[in-house]
Amino acid sequence: MAIVKTEGVGFSYESDRVLKDISFETREGEFLGIIGPNGSGKTTLLKIIDGIFAPREGTVSINETDIRKFKRHDIAKMIAVVPQDSSVTFSFTVQEVVLMGRSPHLGRLRFEEQSDFEIVRKAMAMTDTLPFAARSINELSGGERQRVLIARALAQQPQVILLDESTAFLDIKHQIAFFDLMKNLNKMEKLTVITVTHDINLASFFCDRVMLLSDGEIHSVGTPDEVITAPNIKEVYETNVIVDANPLNGLPRVTLMALSLSDQGSRSEAGAAPQL
Ligand code: ADP
Repeated sequence: MAIVKTEGVGFSYESDRVLKDISFETREGEFLGIIGPNGSGKTTLLKIIDGIFAPREGTVSINETDIRKFKRHDIAKMIAVVPQDSSVTFSFTVQEVVLMGRSPHLGRLRFEEQSDFEIVRKAMAMTDTLPFAARSINELSGGERQRVLIARALAQQPQVILLDESTAFLDIKHQIAFFDLMKNLNKMEKLTVITVTHDINLASFFCDRVMLLSDGEIHSVGTPDEVITAPNIKEVYETNVIVDANPLNGLPRVTLMALSLSDQGSRSEAGAAPQL
């Protein structure tokens, strides 16, 4: 079943079109990566999928129902977002912030119950944030705060999680731990993950499919092997890269080529000719 589907979506903030004719669908339990240069429309597309912006053209459906039929809190029961910017204006404790993830499931007549606190505790354990449960969120580092927002999204118990450069502030241990956690939830609990990332190698490693955006349009979408190729990267990012097979899993691995270092290519001991 298509859990998220867009058909002919177009969007503009003012006069310039930022997204054009975006049609794709994500199956339940899929791990989809969205890559593309700065300004190609990735964040805008996530906001349209989350119902923050209405498309100017085309339609978005969630669970095969037009998103316009849902109220905001109905969408929040299905979709959680981990935003790019982890700054929080008010001085809530970490636990309070994670507990906010439960609010779409509460109502005027339903307050937090023991089960909500258990879900919150589990989300904090999964993101390594329990040690600072009682601290003010504003006292944390950018990476720690980001993990708290990830915990809040997990506490929401969504069907789909939208990640916007969510690992940008994380050190490599927490970056890998986070993607491993997402992959586990994706496999064990059929959580659908849609992630915007600049890290093409992480996208290759973890995503079932990758969508490459270029200037507001889908340039290509498919398996990492189909999309992460040197000609595609060159065409869209205007950058020469080497793409070879990752020795761990055979998936495409991108190596950046700085012009100033290109004369050191002779030091390469690679047996196979790199794909340029
Ligand atoms: P990406 O996430 O790929 O970097 P964005 O979706 O953030 O791209 O932006 C796509 C385009 O829309 C850019 O040209 C950007 O300047 C423009 N844009 C983004 N947000 C706004 C906004 N709030 N108002 C006007 N233009 C915006």
